[in-house]
Amino acid sequence: MLTGVHFLLTYSCGFECDHCFVYSSPQAKGTFTLAQMESVFDELTRMETVKRVYFEGGEAFLFYPLMVEGIRIARSRGLEVGIVTNSYWATGDRDAELWLRPLYEMGIADLSLSDDSFHSEDDKEGPTSHVQAAAERLGMPTGVISIDRPSVEISEGGEQDRGEPVVGGSTMFRGRAVDKLLEGLPTRPWQEFTECPHEELRNPKRVHVDPYGNVHICQGLSMGNMWRTPLSELVKAYDCNSHPICRPLVEGGPALLATEYGVEHEDRYVDACHLCYAVRKALLDRFPEYLAPKQVYGL
Ligand code: SF4
Repeated sequence: MLTGVHFLLTYSCGFECDHCFVYSSPQAKGTFTLAQMESVFDELTRMETVKRVYFEGGEAFLFYPLMVEGIRIARSRGLEVGIVTNSYWATGDRDAELWLRPLYEMGIADLSLSDDSFHSEDDKEGPTSHVQAAAERLGMPTGVISIDRPSVEISEGGEQDRGEPVVGGSTMFRGRAVDKLLEGLPTRPWQEFTECPHEELRNPKRVHVDPYGNVHICQGLSMGNMWRTPLSELVKAYDCNSHPICRPLVEGGPALLATEYGVEHEDRYVDACHLCYAVRKALLDRFPEYLAPKQVYGL
């Protein structure tokens, strides 16, 4: 049962982080219009199962009036609201409060702040600290999303196993991370990646929707297009067994996805997502309804 919908309000962002799995940048195109956003809310009302929406991107604060209107609509329909931001807009504690107060007054359940070495140098006086100070004064709940850079670690190793190099850190190897962060990392044979480790592909509880109509189950892996088939119908009809990408992923992970469609690939990959992303990228033109938009594949 779908309970969460995340608006990728825009793909645009002032930053161009190496780990960004939707390939956001200042040049990235694609932003919701007000009419599009309203039509999604109408579908959520029809579905009755969604309890919380998030506004994220890209960087949602770049389109502050649109985000504010989205929050207003969500709250008027009884939905909880979360926001994800890189805090670029916070130039001081009191200034940050100017941006937050109207949101606080509408009721925000979660303000998640992206704060790690990809987004900024370690700076205790930086924008995140201003947002945290302002949010604390207002009594607004905040959390921090911090992604570690990938590192090489040695596995614990059992009695028979002397330990082997593995990838540490919380980077997901999808999107720009695949093009920017793989160098020097240990790899494993592709046949080992027989399951999807992160997403509930059989029964997704949350999806990300984008301005092109894609309903992402994982970034760039779509249930279908909600501008062609209404979101409520897409969700109701979704069955991973008849989805050409999700079915093999559920039955045998990225390894089966590669085998089933005869995709040429390398012998070794850093992790399951790395193989999955590479295979999906090779299949883009074959399944344009389900693998989209191309820009999250760096194209
Ligand atoms: S294996 Fe594929 S579908 Fe699963 S989380 Fe990784 S990239 Fe997403």
